[in-house]
Amino acid sequence: MRACAAVVASGHYVLGPNVKAFESEFAAYCGVSDCVSVANGTEALELGLRSIGICQGKRVALVANAAMYGTTAVLACAAEPVFVDIDPSCHTLSPKALEAVLATGPIDALIVTHLYGRLADMRSILALADKHGFAVFEDCAQAHGARDASGRRAGSFGIAASFSFYPTKNLGALGDGGAVITNDPQVADTLRKLRQYGWTAKYRNELPGGRNSRLDELQAAFLRTMLPLLDGWNARRREIANRYSREIRNERIQVPSTSGEEYVAHLYVVQVSDRAGLQQHLAGAGVGSDVHYPIGDHRQPLFHDRFISTDLPVTEAACGNVLTLPCFPELTNDEATRVILACNDF
Ligand SMILES: *Cc1c(COP(=O)(O)O)cnc(C)c1O
Repeated sequence: MRACAAVVASGHYVLGPNVKAFESEFAAYCGVSDCVSVANGTEALELGLRSIGICQGKRVALVANAAMYGTTAVLACAAEPVFVDIDPSCHTLSPKALEAVLATGPIDALIVTHLYGRLADMRSILALADKHGFAVFEDCAQAHGARDASGRRAGSFGIAASFSFYPTKNLGALGDGGAVITNDPQVADTLRKLRQYGWTAKYRNELPGGRNSRLDELQAAFLRTMLPLLDGWNARRREIANRYSREIRNERIQVPSTSGEEYVAHLYVVQVSDRAGLQQHLAGAGVGSDVHYPIGDHRQPLFHDRFISTDLPVTEAACGNVLTLPCFPELTNDEATRVILACNDF
């Protein structure tokens, strides 16, 4: 409320001091030189891809189990999505499957989605990028603050990375918001133009793909208030997730193994063959659940049979058996216990 009142009184509402301050605070938090805020996570993906040179005819590899966000951005750039299967244990991109795709033809870029808040296997992916010469772009919309054993944060591995600040994300605004981070000043400069109509000077529209895509001062002020709380919230999410992984004991429910800081528990996802049965059982116990995500990108109706010959067995199995249990910082220990008991007597 204080942040809101200060912005209202300031007279600055778009691209003002709070946006500037948030961008430098978030860049510092992620361990990169530049952050360019935009209107939402999907435009962060699209403008981010454009800023690294993705355009018509380029081939961009990505997974098909991340709710179409990356694919939507690739299509918006008029580029070609090339789908890669996932690892069966963590549901992020499988470097082995990527190698198989690379054997069939080169790609220009790879979108790595740190799905559910878990860092993908960046070491193997960066080695393949080195060998084959493609750009790595990270989608960090579910992974704000995740870091590897050396302390490197999500978004600092590739040439650029996108974030969403949709309210339910680990760092969420009170409305829509997004950002791209990078260590490349040229990429950042392009992004600052793309988000402001593609202007290279006032009223001079030069960059294709430019538009109005800005974070507003109110959202930036809210995000500045919450950024210092992010690590604590992530720790609480992880505490709940690790408790689930230790205490859910049911041979019909496959839980992820316990995790360190490489996982910020945006979503806690189990696998169960009788998914409808478990959902109904949980609902009866007053426990909500949801499916992230039920349809692979390559099977979305908008494509008709464009990807009919794309075979992604692990992705398709996951679409049929993943189930998300409640996991968010405000969940109490007693509520988490109820979730565990409900799973154990399924
Ligand atoms: C939420 C999300 C997005 C899109 O963000 P919006 O702000 O809703 O456009 C992109 N990628 C992933 C992985 C997401 O979870």
